[in-house]
Amino acid sequence: MAGEIRALIERDGPITVAEFMRLTVERYYARGDPLGVRGDFITAPEISQVFGELLGLWCAETWRQIGAPDRIALVELGPGRGTLMRDALRAAASVPKFRPQLHLVETSPALRALQNDLAATWHDTLATVPETPALFIANEFFDALPVHQFVDGAERRVGIEAGKLVFLPAQGGEFVERSPEREAVTAEMARRIVAHGGASLIVDYGYAQGGGDTLQALRGHRRRDVLDEPGSADLTAHVDFAALMRAAEGAGARCWGPITQRDFLSRLGIEARAARLIEKAAPDQAILIRSGCRRLIDPGEMGNLFKVLAITRKHSPAPPGFEDHA
Ligand code: SAH
Repeated sequence: MAGEIRALIERDGPITVAEFMRLTVERYYARGDPLGVRGDFITAPEISQVFGELLGLWCAETWRQIGAPDRIALVELGPGRGTLMRDALRAAASVPKFRPQLHLVETSPALRALQNDLAATWHDTLATVPETPALFIANEFFDALPVHQFVDGAERRVGIEAGKLVFLPAQGGEFVERSPEREAVTAEMARRIVAHGGASLIVDYGYAQGGGDTLQALRGHRRRDVLDEPGSADLTAHVDFAALMRAAEGAGARCWGPITQRDFLSRLGIEARAARLIEKAAPDQAILIRSGCRRLIDPGEMGNLFKVLAITRKHSPAPPGFEDHA
């Protein structure tokens, strides 16, 4: 697997960091299930059921805000094991008349297999999702889409020197990351929201302004060398939320946030929901629920690093968890 990407560079010469990332991520997720305690990394829905439940209730409330249309698509990008969606649907099932059609955007056959108990239609990209009012959810999806890196204005590549994969150029003065791929997906969601109604919720780790070199590889929950055995570790780069906002606003939509995951989940009532679950739980379960929720919102854990951005039509009210500052 690592050999394949190497062989390609040996044959065709250096490739851009973005192409390297695209090939690596594609191979990595095609391999199997990387999530969870025994995998390479763990995500919010795998830490606590409360995460998906609160997002499910966010969807139902946002649907009500847009006038509760009969036909509403619920679209998740990069659903992983499908855990978030199962928790979301279970929580939202109590909301009368909210019966969304489920669409999952997922390229990995191995992960699609883990999602197949969900009554959904699968897509490789947003392009084939029907043009209807829709709620879009993306948790740790954008960080997997490729970034381009520029060193002093020159696009950075991955090549081979003395038999080893290396960055060209290695270092320099000004460092910039850009992702037209991420911006295009955001603009497409925004276009659909403006045309048909709906909203989008993007949760990811990233920054509001400027980031430097954020490319990172994770294997077995530990940082690895990005160029070491490509395809065997998860490769991500931080999300530039300002760039996503420009893309959404360029398509005529309105952005809310980004706010921290801590603020978002707190305003949606994570404490109360956890307390209710703990009341009914056995003592050992109660400990897990409490520690899971803490991990989601603690500033030193996921609370501050993870940001939440919402996209709506221009004159829509603030979606749940976001405040109207206009
Ligand atoms: N949202 C899940 C999984 C995050 S991992 C969770 O929070 O647990 C990233 C997910 O995005 C995986 O499901 C992966 O297969 C998918 N993915 C990565 N690149 C993709 C692409 N270009 N198109 C569609 N899905 C992609």
